[in-house]
Amino acid sequence: MKHIAILGSTGSIGTQTLDIVDQNEDLKVVALAAGSNITLLERQARKYQPSLVAVWDEAKASELKRHLSDTEIRVCAGMDGLLAVATLEESEILVTAIVGMLGIRPTIAAIEAGKDIALANKETLVTAGHIIMPLAQKHQVSILPVDSEHSAIFQSLNGERHNKIDKILLTASGGPFRGKTYEDLEQVTVEDALHHPNWSMGRKITIDSATMVNKGLEVMEAKWLFGVTPGQIEVVVHPQSILHSAVQFEDGAVIGQMGVPDMRLPILYALFYPQRRTLYAEELNLFSVGTLTFERPDLETFYGLSLAYDALDAGGNVPTVFNAANERAVAKFLDGQIRFLQIPEIIASSMEEIFYKEDPTLEEILETETATYDFIESRW
Ligand code: NAD
Ligand code: MG
Repeated sequence: MKHIAILGSTGSIGTQTLDIVDQNEDLKVVALAAGSNITLLERQARKYQPSLVAVWDEAKASELKRHLSDTEIRVCAGMDGLLAVATLEESEILVTAIVGMLGIRPTIAAIEAGKDIALANKETLVTAGHIIMPLAQKHQVSILPVDSEHSAIFQSLNGERHNKIDKILLTASGGPFRGKTYEDLEQVTVEDALHHPNWSMGRKITIDSATMVNKGLEVMEAKWLFGVTPGQIEVVVHPQSILHSAVQFEDGAVIGQMGVPDMRLPILYALFYPQRRTLYAEELNLFSVGTLTFERPDLETFYGLSLAYDALDAGGNVPTVFNAANERAVAKFLDGQIRFLQIPEIIASSMEEIFYKEDPTLEEILETETATYDFIESRW
C-alpha cells in the first residue's frame, strides 16, 4: 500500500490523480487539500476517507468541519492546513497540484519531513529551484515530475544518467493562437484563449499555454530538474502533442516519449516510478495520428517565451518576478481588466522595475512576489 497526500485535490491534476487512485487498489489517500470548493472536497473525503483534509478559506473550513462531524476526518485551514497535509506522518508521497507560489512552503516542509514529491506545481521550481533541489538531495527524497514534458524527459533519461545530455527538445503545442500574428492577437477574448486545442487543464495554465509563458516556465523547470543550461533547452512547436519531449545525446541519438495527451500517464508514472502500471485509457494509434510536424516557435508574437529565457539568464529573483507578474496579469485578463497582449507587457515592465536579488532566500522570494503585485496594482 502506498500512502499519498494531495494538495489541490479538486483541480484538474488533483481529480486526475484521484482517477489513478481509483485504478490502483494499492494507493491509499491519507490527506487532501483544496482552496474553497468544499462541496467536491466533502465528496472526496467521504469516498477516500483520508485522516486529514485542509481548506485554504477559514470560513469554508469551518463549514466543512460541521459537514464532516459524523466522521473521524480532521479538518484544518489556511497555510497551517497545507503544511499539515504536506507533512502528515503516514504519507509517503505528496502530489503538489495547487496553482501558484503558495506551493513552495508546503513542498519545502514535505521534503524536510522526508516525503517524495510528485511535482505538478511548476511555480515551486521556477521561483525556488535553487532551494528545493539541494534540499531534496540533502533529505534524499525524489522530485518526480508530473508536468507531461518533464515526465517525458525523465522517462527518456532512464538508464542514461551517466551519459551527457547534448540538449533537451521541449515540445509545445503552440496553443490556440499558433500561426497568428501579433496584430491578430489584439482582439482575442478570454473565451478564445481558454480554448486549448489538445489539453484540458485548469484556467490559469490554459492562458499560459496561449501566451506560451507556460513553455517559458517549463524551460525554467527543466533547468532545475535536469541540471542543464538554458542554452541546452530548445523549444520545439509540435501541434499534435504526441511527442511529449525528448533528449538528444552526444552521439546524436534522440530519445523521446510519445503518447496521447493524457495527464494521467505522467501522474501514474510519478506515483509508481520506476515501475510502469496499466493505464485504463485511450492508447496511441500512430496510424490515426498519421503525421507529426515540428516548427520553430514565433518568439516575436509570443515574446513571453523569450522573456523567460531573459529571466533565466538574469537569475536570482528575476524568475520570481516573471512568474508573479504573469500570475497577476493572467488573473486580470481572466477578470476582463486587461487585454491579452498586455500579459507579456506587464511581465516585461515588472522585470525592469523590481529590485534585483541574487540567490534569494524564501523570505526574499515572497518579498519579490509582493513587490511585483504592488507594482502591478499601482500601474494597471
Ligand atoms: P486547477 O486550477 O485546476 O486546480 C488548482 C487546485 O488548487 C484546486 O484543487 C484548488 O482548490 C487548489 N487551490 C487553489 N488555491 C488554493 C489554496 N490557496 N489553498 C489550497 N488549495 C488551493 O489547476 P491545475 O490545472 O490542476 O494545475 C495545478 C498545477 O499543476 C499548476 O501549477 C499547473 O501549472 C500545474 N500543471 C497542470 C497541468 C494540467 O494539465 N492541468 C499540467 C502540467 C502542470
Ligand atoms: Mg506541460
